Amino acid sequence: MEQQANSLRSRRDRNRQANKKSNQQKILILLILLILTFILGFIFGFLIGSRREKEINFVLPESTPAVSETPIETPPKTIPENLPWNLTLVNFEYPLDKMFKPAELAEIDNGYIADKRIADATKKMIADARSKDNVRIIALSAYRDYDYQMELFENKVIRLQQEKGYSVDKAREEAKTVVAYPGTSEHQLGLALDLVDARHVKLDESQENTAAYKWLYEHCHEYGFIVRYPNGKTDITGIIYEPWHFRYVGVEAATYIMENNLTLEEYLLDHYTP
Ligand SMILES: [Zn+2]
Repeated sequence: MEQQANSLRSRRDRNRQANKKSNQQKILILLILLILTFILGFIFGFLIGSRREKEINFVLPESTPAVSETPIETPPKTIPENLPWNLTLVNFEYPLDKMFKPAELAEIDNGYIADKRIADATKKMIADARSKDNVRIIALSAYRDYDYQMELFENKVIRLQQEKGYSVDKAREEAKTVVAYPGTSEHQLGLALDLVDARHVKLDESQENTAAYKWLYEHCHEYGFIVRYPNGKTDITGIIYEPWHFRYVGVEAATYIMENNLTLEEYLLDHYTP
């Protein structure tokens, strides 16, 4: 009886121990699974992450040049925009709107029209040259609208391509120094005139030697005009020497500009910046 009871107890103990052992094994397996999941999760996460990084690295070089292609920000304008009408600056940096047109136009000479406010001064200047000094000045151009300026510019580009064999880009670059780019011409402003000697009707540097130019160079400021594109100032005006192009700025500014051999740009920077 006792033997039976003993063997029963020991079997129970063995069973209990076996149960305990299998429980421990289960916990161990669970732990291993848990650790494996962690490791796998970590590896997957790392792989996906590095792939994303690679994708980003791939995108970056493509988008970088696009950023550098954006135009460099132009420095702030130094000349105020609310200048009196007669001092309005028009050049490559300060273009006119395509739609800009002088409020009132009037005939000035030789069938040409300009801003009405300068018609009297122009007529008097031409009349005085003739009556006082027997110098005959005639106008070859005055107000030109945007479309006409565009036509002149495009014609110049075509001529440069044909005559000098330039590419379109090169022809356009050179044309800009000779014919004002549409929107950047003072002729659109209505305050500029091309004046030549009636005995030498040519729009080139030879105009400099005419009686008309010599008279105008001496007297134009008395009527409010300046030589707008003087010799040796191309780096400031962006336009070649034009001893036929006169710009109305009013007597006060014109006298100062002509006496000091300045350009309108230089005058405005001296007088109109804080
Ligand atoms: Zn002109």
